[in-house]
Amino acid sequence: MTRNLNPDDQPLCADPAYDSEMWFPEPNSKENPLGLRYQKAALDTAVEAIKICGTCPLQQACIEYSMESLETVHYGIYGGTLPMERQRAINAGDVSNTHSWQGKIRRKATEAGLTVPYVAKRERPKLLVSLQERASWQLSAWESSQQAS
Ligand code: SF4
Repeated sequence: MTRNLNPDDQPLCADPAYDSEMWFPEPNSKENPLGLRYQKAALDTAVEAIKICGTCPLQQACIEYSMESLETVHYGIYGGTLPMERQRAINAGDVSNTHSWQGKIRRKATEAGLTVPYVAKRERPKLLVSLQERASWQLSAWESSQQAS
């Protein structure tokens, strides 16, 4: 895989016409009381995000980027791939607890004629960032900013 480094290429998900949450589909939401109706809408939205990725000029670079830390491997749609597909590529366990939900998304995407993008098998990255590490960095950055002000 080769990174696409054309500086004119823009990520389609950055288009303000799209809600960035489309790329982080959740099976349910405590804010949304619609239950199954919400899930159906969320499923359609996720498939739409996968479809948009399929036409994005940065798709391959995006998949590579997503494999660089645990957070991006485990959460969200990147380059039209789901976490379970990226986890498979580095032989990592599923920590997202949404495997069946992702399966529904992938089945619906397949029905819509969208194929699973290629994700190269690879070693787990040496510098995996855990959510705990990230949280502690954010906390220390916040504490430093408080001391500076
Ligand atoms: S391929 Fe990546 S950059 Fe492009 S729309 Fe999808 S998530 Fe965004």
